[in-house]
Amino acid sequence: MQALTVEGLEKTYDNGFQALKGVSFSVESGEFFALLGPNGAGKSTTLGIVCGLVRKSSGRVSVCGDDLDQSPQAVRRHLGVVPQEFNFNSFEKVEQIVLNQAGYYGISRKEALPYCETLLKQLDLWEKRHTPARMLSGGMKRRLMIARALIHKPRVLILDEPTAGVDIEIRRSMWEFLQKLNQQGLTIILTTHYLEEAEAMCKRVAIISEGKIITNTSTKALLKQADKAYFVVDVTGTTESLPALSPFSIEVLDEHSFLVEVNKSISLNELFAVLNEKGINVASIRPEANRLESMFIDLVAESKQ
Ligand code: ADP
Repeated sequence: MQALTVEGLEKTYDNGFQALKGVSFSVESGEFFALLGPNGAGKSTTLGIVCGLVRKSSGRVSVCGDDLDQSPQAVRRHLGVVPQEFNFNSFEKVEQIVLNQAGYYGISRKEALPYCETLLKQLDLWEKRHTPARMLSGGMKRRLMIARALIHKPRVLILDEPTAGVDIEIRRSMWEFLQKLNQQGLTIILTTHYLEEAEAMCKRVAIISEGKIITNTSTKALLKQADKAYFVVDVTGTTESLPALSPFSIEVLDEHSFLVEVNKSISLNELFAVLNEKGINVASIRPEANRLESMFIDLVAESKQ
């Protein structure tokens, strides 16, 4: 069963700008899928159309077998949506915001209360249930958006840049929570420009650039294609007169550190051995950006050639 099918989606905004130029992809039920791409690539436009927030110019969307044009209400019922912008009434209290949302789906307060409690507890918001939303931190507001999106028990959760503005610790606990939901059978589709996020959570990714899908594959396969890894090496001496490190290429970053590009098949130990052999005294080595990141930059550059 396909949770989402998007076919030949095109969007030209009123000002004449063509944001989508025939986007097609599909997401299987139960998948954890990321739509990746640089800012302005068309991620929000694509998901905005799926969620009924943006009108498409042409193409077809179907969610859990229901067509967006023919059965918009059914599509709405299948989806839980977490938009980028906080769009709750910030004077309202946390619990009320979630319960009101249940009301929009015809679920009574009494019926919604137990699940509301479960969600707020799972998302670490239970203590704040009587607090007006405006008094929450950014991370709490984001979690409130997730609780609200889930209250009607949708089959597909769509999140637009879910961890934008969320600090690293909260980000990791949100990842864990989303992974747990996915393991329970919820299909999750997110947009992100944090590649680390896709790498940590998503089994499959599509990369969009300038309104076109340029790659659609498993995260594993994508990572396999990436044949370069980068390490930052800090030295105890100076980087002034470094010997050549052939076959690796290096780039001096500052007086005490340099970047080394290696084939990804090289282990950290082998790299250490080479540096040792050349008489370089290493204070520390750490991986630079993740591999998906360099892959991503290469792919976008290639698609523009
Ligand atoms: P992303 O989510 O990948 O950052 P968007 O889907 O938000 O990208 O935007 C894709 C392109 O469409 C961008 O160039 C953006 O400036 C443009 N765009 C978005 N919304 C509008 C709009 N309402 N009117 C005109 N252009 C828009």
